Amino acid sequence: MFSVGQITKMLSLQGSGMDALLAEAHRVRVAATGECIRPRGLIEYSNLCRKNCLYCGIRSGMDGVGRYTLSEGQVMEAARRAVREGLGSVVIQAGEVTTREHIEAIERLVREIKLITPESAGVDPVRARGWSSSPGVTLSLGEQSLDVYRRWADAGASRYLLRIEASDEKLYRTLHPHDGRHSYRRRIEALENLRKAGYQVGTGVMIGLPGQNAGHLAADLLFMQRADIDMCGMGPYVECAGTPLAGLSLPPARWRVDMTLKMTAVLRLMMPDINIAAATALETLDPHARSRALSGGANVVMPNVTPRDARSEYRLYDNKEYVPDFKIDDYDVCKGAAGDSIHFEKKLKNI
Ligand code: SAH
Ligand code: SF4
Repeated sequence: MFSVGQITKMLSLQGSGMDALLAEAHRVRVAATGECIRPRGLIEYSNLCRKNCLYCGIRSGMDGVGRYTLSEGQVMEAARRAVREGLGSVVIQAGEVTTREHIEAIERLVREIKLITPESAGVDPVRARGWSSSPGVTLSLGEQSLDVYRRWADAGASRYLLRIEASDEKLYRTLHPHDGRHSYRRRIEALENLRKAGYQVGTGVMIGLPGQNAGHLAADLLFMQRADIDMCGMGPYVECAGTPLAGLSLPPARWRVDMTLKMTAVLRLMMPDINIAAATALETLDPHARSRALSGGANVVMPNVTPRDARSEYRLYDNKEYVPDFKIDDYDVCKGAAGDSIHFEKKLKNI
């Protein structure tokens, strides 16, 4: 187990020291999870949100956002396209909505996606050999009740991403309104409920936030290790014009990119067999950062399969649309596999 001092030292590496850290993380990742990376098709289902996080471009208080929710047909087409392209697994992400209608719609969608087969998605039967029969479904739909988490798990969702955003409660409070809807305690409780509902649990933080220091980042990594997470999605904070946090002083983009790469690498050393995503926000700041992350400890990538016109309204931060297309053939991907967390599988077997 690393100490705070050891972690901050690794996070301060630069140049050849940083390159060596990433190379070691890559070696550890390949040994623990295999050569191939696990892709998931990201479906940005809706930009409606009941919350008002101070950093986010689709917060409820943001004017000028064309609010949308994809139709069932659009989601299914996106999911089939993901399977056809060899992604094997999808993530449904949206703002936080807790209405009955939304809960039921997600439940239906998960059930339907689980019924997709390589054949029904139009995958060539020869290529489809060896594919897992049903796509993996990850949800990232914010805080919901334990009952709702259970319903969606029963429908077939097996993974859930809920970032803690900042594991330090004081820092968390500077990033969210104090209105009863943005409670740190409830976020932690939601993570515990995801566990109870049987999900592979993923969390993560934003890196380079205003007011964040090296101690916070080291504590974030230790938080994830203590929580014994199965997956991690963390990425740089990217300013979004028009949000309350825009204009505050923050580290340069280069620093945020490098720090995200180092955080990814150190987490890999701490938790060799979890799934760690190369963050989309990373690619927004640096088009080469995706491949650096994937050869520096990350083993998951989430190419966007949302229909184009909706995608432009899912603007969590500035320039989000300028992400280079993911070319599956450029990488060694675990084609057609649901890509579960090996860490989670091992825990199950020990029970
Ligand atoms: N509403 C859900 C999921 C969608 S938001 C939730 O909040 O959990 C997904 C992630 O986008 C958030 O967890 C947050 O970490 C990230 N995000 C939002 N605004 C951002 C910004 N300005 N820069 C970087 N990441 C941001
Ligand atoms: Fe809503 Fe998620 Fe954005 Fe917060 S981060 S405002 S919960 S979409």
